[in-house]
Amino acid sequence: MTISTTVDRVPAALRAWLSKPRPMLIDGKWVQAKSGKVFEVQDPATEMLLAKVAEGDAADIDAAVKAARRALEGPWGRMSPSARGRIIHKIGDLILENLDELAQLESLDNGKPFGVARVADVPLSADMFHYMSGWATKIEGKYIPLSTLAASGQFMSYTRPEPVGVVGQIIPWNFPLLMAAWKLAPALATGCTVVLKVAEETPLSALRLGELLLEAGLPDGVVNIVPGFGETAGAALASHPDVDKIAFTGSTEVGKLIVQAASRDLRKVSLELGGKSPNIILGDADIDEAIDGATAGIFFNHGQCCNAGSRLFVQEKIFDKVAAGIAANAEKIRLGVGMDPETQMGPLVSQVQHGRVSGYLKSGLEEGARALTGGAPLNMPGYFVKPTVLVDTHPDMKVVREEIFGPVLVATPFKEADDRLIAAANDTVYGLAAGVWSRDLAQAHRIAHQIKAGTVWINCFHVFDSALPFGGYKQSGWGREMGQAVLSNYLETKAVTTRLA
Ligand code: ADP
Repeated sequence: MTISTTVDRVPAALRAWLSKPRPMLIDGKWVQAKSGKVFEVQDPATEMLLAKVAEGDAADIDAAVKAARRALEGPWGRMSPSARGRIIHKIGDLILENLDELAQLESLDNGKPFGVARVADVPLSADMFHYMSGWATKIEGKYIPLSTLAASGQFMSYTRPEPVGVVGQIIPWNFPLLMAAWKLAPALATGCTVVLKVAEETPLSALRLGELLLEAGLPDGVVNIVPGFGETAGAALASHPDVDKIAFTGSTEVGKLIVQAASRDLRKVSLELGGKSPNIILGDADIDEAIDGATAGIFFNHGQCCNAGSRLFVQEKIFDKVAAGIAANAEKIRLGVGMDPETQMGPLVSQVQHGRVSGYLKSGLEEGARALTGGAPLNMPGYFVKPTVLVDTHPDMKVVREEIFGPVLVATPFKEADDRLIAAANDTVYGLAAGVWSRDLAQAHRIAHQIKAGTVWINCFHVFDSALPFGGYKQSGWGREMGQAVLSNYLETKAVTTRLA
């Protein structure tokens, strides 16, 4: 494989970093895989070699878990919450100090536009550490008056939240740095130690983050980062007997495998999985805003968002105008190499993903859907797919039922904002997110309350904040990421009762 020419667009220091096989982080040291194996990471815009990375497997995972256990029982477990919080805050600072470089890595590795990574992925990752650093000193137990015995004055009880222990975290490739931040920051704030298995498609930004973790002063072994494949490194982590908890983000299909692996020892699990989110535009909405919002709702990050607004419901009287408006927006999106400043949409992340999305497009058209725009992959190097709007769909089509994880919108008209609309919006095994567009806020809130999803956006979409819990109903997951809510993923509650008299 020849080295990708896109790399020429980045500074010499980053080119030099990419030119050496990247090791993994275990116990504060950068080491090659015990097997000596490396795997190749591809630039999805050119299909050429980007970097070689140490390929972790069960033996490396085992070493990482042991290091995490030692750190939990050693320096990290003994460190004051205040000192922990300062290190977590410093990680956020260092991410911002290395903003351009991290955004370049993210763009090269994942394919997303550099400008998007620079304003979204990287600053949001920094904010996750900044936000969570404050929680390190605010994890409090409670004094609990006993239900039947309080009056006797005989007992005094309180709760004590404790770190769940060694956490195995497995993350996907769509927001490689941000997913690492969502996972690491709360685990550190609660006092856990971590083995992080990064996605095989996009390991680079998390490995660079590993260097920043050490620079921030994180003690050895608190975070161990093992790149490798799902079936080997991932599966070994999910079933490792000395891991107390698994936190996973990825497909619902793999989420079920994680649960099976973890259930043998009843290991605790939290899951952030797939979605097929409804985006509902009512007849009284600000149409231009709704068209632009629905465009971003599906096409942001090339549709590779678990919360993408991939099922559009538009009130009949404005359906044609809205669908045509989104199609016109889609046609204006400039596809290209992520490192090109003109690019608005890059390639999909991998050949596998390109094949998967192309297959869905074919199946949708074969089942009778009509593409207002797009409908096919681009015939050029790189994993590019045209942003697509499908109409004339029916609820049983695969493109309507299954998560595509690509830039493909299915649009359906509805008559009234009644129970039939709610039933159609909720007619999915997923329940991650939803959008509602209307000038009538009372109506919008009524709909928001009836949608079975962990997030509902009214007159906006894709609004994420470190303080807001995010996660799914139904098969979209267990537990929440971010906000105060995520802390419970990483804490055990102990009740301590003393006999006083
Ligand atoms: P996608 O299908 O979009 O690539 P996946 O759910 O397959 O998403 O991958 C998300 C993460 O899960 C990646 O880090 C991947 O390596 C990991 N993974 C895949 N299969 C397994 C498995 N059987 N056990 C544990 N982790 C896995």
